[in-house]
Amino acid sequence: MMQLKGIAAAGGISIGPAYMLGREELVVAREAISWADIPLQIQIFEEALIQTRREIIELQKRISADMGQEEAQIFDAHLLVLEDRMLIEEVISRLKKEQLNVAYIFSEVLKKYIGVFLKIEDEYLKERAADINDVGKRILRNLLGKKKKTLDEIDGKAIIVAHDISPSDTAAMHTKNVAAFITDMGGKTSHTAIMAKSLEIPAVVGLEDVTSRVNPGDIMIVDGSTGIVIISPDEETLNSYRQKVERLKGIADKFLSVKDLPAATSDGREILINANIEFPDEVPGVKLHGGHGIGLYRTEFFYMNRKDSPSEEEHYQAYKYVAEEMSPHPVVIRTLDIGGDKFLSQFKIPHEMQPFLGWRAIRFCLARPEIFKLQLRAILRASVHGNLKLMYPMISGIEELRQANQILAEAKEELRQKGLEFNDKIEVGVMVEVPSAAMTADILAKEADFFSIGTNDLIQYSLAVDRSNEKVAYLYDPAHPAVLRLVKSIIESAHQSGIKVAMCGEMAGESSLALILLGLGLDEFSVPPQLIPELKYVIRAVSFKAAQDMASLALKLSTGKEVEAFSKNRLAEILK
Ligand code: PEP
Ligand code: MG
Repeated sequence: MMQLKGIAAAGGISIGPAYMLGREELVVAREAISWADIPLQIQIFEEALIQTRREIIELQKRISADMGQEEAQIFDAHLLVLEDRMLIEEVISRLKKEQLNVAYIFSEVLKKYIGVFLKIEDEYLKERAADINDVGKRILRNLLGKKKKTLDEIDGKAIIVAHDISPSDTAAMHTKNVAAFITDMGGKTSHTAIMAKSLEIPAVVGLEDVTSRVNPGDIMIVDGSTGIVIISPDEETLNSYRQKVERLKGIADKFLSVKDLPAATSDGREILINANIEFPDEVPGVKLHGGHGIGLYRTEFFYMNRKDSPSEEEHYQAYKYVAEEMSPHPVVIRTLDIGGDKFLSQFKIPHEMQPFLGWRAIRFCLARPEIFKLQLRAILRASVHGNLKLMYPMISGIEELRQANQILAEAKEELRQKGLEFNDKIEVGVMVEVPSAAMTADILAKEADFFSIGTNDLIQYSLAVDRSNEKVAYLYDPAHPAVLRLVKSIIESAHQSGIKVAMCGEMAGESSLALILLGLGLDEFSVPPQLIPELKYVIRAVSFKAAQDMASLALKLSTGKEVEAFSKNRLAEILK
């Protein structure tokens, strides 16, 4: 038995056999061929390319139907690899020159290509290497007449173990026998982690070398809430986790029973529980879990895994759909937040030493007003279809808010000129996630319609802990007294100016801390959809007065550990 601790990326516990993804190395024999065989080998190569194209288009269609067009576009890059003249011509010319079987030649050319791309210090080209690897393996399989091992071959639900997970693998998990997945790479906010949450699959990432510790078929336990992974557990551990799964299921059912009731405390304070989404097709899940509205729609995922940027019309259609589906409830669209750990290849942002402190979010948008304004126009146009609000990420002071609002005013003027309708009174909020914004919240509150506290960033900036670095993850502490004090002062400043405060960082979804946040006067919580029922249940189980008392006691404590222990104890008492 071996226990590993990684980064808890998506909650839940799964037990099952390990399935090693991507370890399948295709061994290609080197065979001499005669000059006369060359036309036949070229034909085999061409047929493999055609077959691969067919497979990708088929996969793309399936994903488009299951998950939406946006996810399916991931494969456009794969189709482009199939048309890469340089690659094809190199294979044919080496085939003629070296007179070796085409599968072998292709595997050599593929290795060379991937090697070249990987050596270059450029994220965009590194992504291309992954695409080429993915498609290249497909072509090779077709050249060798081998079928790809699919997730269907697994009996029962398996735990996927991978170094990293490619978009095509994640997409395939959508409907397959996947109990959980674990990876060597990745942080809490990686694309993989976010996808896992929307697919409701437990996931642990950032395990560093788990792929070299697991063998295919090993029984494993994955606890996506704690980040614990156990390889070949003994009978006692297995039993205790099986019991935990049963317990959790019972608890989940209990939480679900209140999902459609208001999140009101026993003495009548009503809180709004909204959802965080990344893709429009998550809307049904929000409703299923009893979400009031959408408190954070992270729009940068719209730009990912594609070569071009979405057009104004594409933005508009997506926002209109979400607005209409959620109407009359609010939908808060967060404008483009790239940089940091969220990388968009089409903008070719140069590498930075400190990406989280660099050209990110609103800073990028203010520097590239044409990109920003296109999105703002789409949000404004969609605002007539429901209750849309917008908010800016990474505001560090009032000047940035004013500059962003100036561009918003220009976007409105452009729509007016064209005679297009929009809600002129659309609410504009500020994400408070930079310490300087938190400390000048009183100034910002006078010019903002609402605040949403982004604790994922606020914690990393105020505690000086890179949120995606597993080495310093032990310092990343939402319960730290510094964080509680900042949150308290943001809420007070907002309320003094008569505006509401939401929280959309992951901290809002931690039930024990949510009690303190409730007591501090937070008005709205925005969390991943599956956490909504639990939060409602917890809020309904306390009085506002008790939560206020709890908050003032928590503020007297000196360490995060004390706050955590105290709040967990209180939560256990409340849920008893
Ligand atoms: C945050 O920083 O808390 C937040 C919600 O935004 P993101 O995680 O997208 O940076
Ligand atoms: Mg943020």
